[in-house]
Amino acid sequence: MSDKIAFIGVGNMGNPMAENLFKSGKEIKVFDVSNEMIERAKKKGLNTTDSIESLINDEISTVITMLPEGKHSKEIYLGDSGIINKVSKNCLLIDCSTIDIETSKEIGKVANNQGIMMIDAPVSGGVMGAQKATLNIMVGGSKEAFDRALPVLKVMGKNIYHAGDIGSGNGAKICNNMALGISMIAASESLMLAKRLHIDIKKVHEIMKNASGNSWPISVYPPLPGLIDGTPSNNNYRPGFSAGMMNKDLKLAYECAKSVDAETPLGKMALEIYDQFCKEGNESKDFSAISKVIGGNAWDYPID
Ligand code: NAD
Repeated sequence: MSDKIAFIGVGNMGNPMAENLFKSGKEIKVFDVSNEMIERAKKKGLNTTDSIESLINDEISTVITMLPEGKHSKEIYLGDSGIINKVSKNCLLIDCSTIDIETSKEIGKVANNQGIMMIDAPVSGGVMGAQKATLNIMVGGSKEAFDRALPVLKVMGKNIYHAGDIGSGNGAKICNNMALGISMIAASESLMLAKRLHIDIKKVHEIMKNASGNSWPISVYPPLPGLIDGTPSNNNYRPGFSAGMMNKDLKLAYECAKSVDAETPLGKMALEIYDQFCKEGNESKDFSAISKVIGGNAWDYPID
């Protein structure tokens, strides 16, 4: 029997991920609460529905969710009209959202009690990685569930890792994004310092890309415009990965660190910087727009 996929949440990431599944020949239907996202999916030729009720039935063999936060995943899986009570026992549940470990474990436990396989499978690589199907996917769940999910995950990503039991995917992802938040601020500080020193930014960028100060924000996603085509900094900081999402991930990292008495002073500082940035109304800008407030107000690029 062919795989029938239900995909919930076709925003910045979910849209290209669902598109890749569709292009690979998978039978897939998508749903999102946002009409704008549904229209965008329709334009790409994807099959859409206008409710969870019309999306989920016992013929669905795989559900994939790509939602903003833990509260959204919890509502979709365990809420009043939660899909966990609507799918068949043979259905595989894949939550690709980046959420807190506890919620991930809670949903996984309910699924397990009902005999349904579930994995958490958050991703990294950004919208470009989602479009090019080169995502890194970090999976938490049983080996059996991991093996079953592999063919579908391989359509969306390049490196697929089994991190451990349910919740471990999100644990790995939270550690990764704490480093990303810190390194985006570090890249912004360096490039803004170069600017203040009146050194050609393009040259400094080229040097850093090949020297020991390189990082993902420098080589792939620079926070200043004019360095790499197709990045949010070249598109007026339209996300991409929003500052609000980075703030959420840094909060998750802070809470995780507290729960195990880990000292993460730079993670805490990055959270304070992003939190303030979001409070100033920049939540929906790309997270690389943090360069706006770095470098002693040296910002001189237009940003709306
Ligand atoms: P997004 O806000 O663009 O997309 C989320 C989508 O979920 C939206 O379209 C929203 O309408 C939809 N949604 C919310 N509640 C829903 C519900 N109850 N039913 C159906 N749809 C619902 O966010 P995104 O950037 O695509 O990120 C999604 C997840 O992936 C987040 O957890 C984020 O942290 C993670 N992530 C994002 C990136 C990135 O670069 N954007 C990279 C890696 C991981």
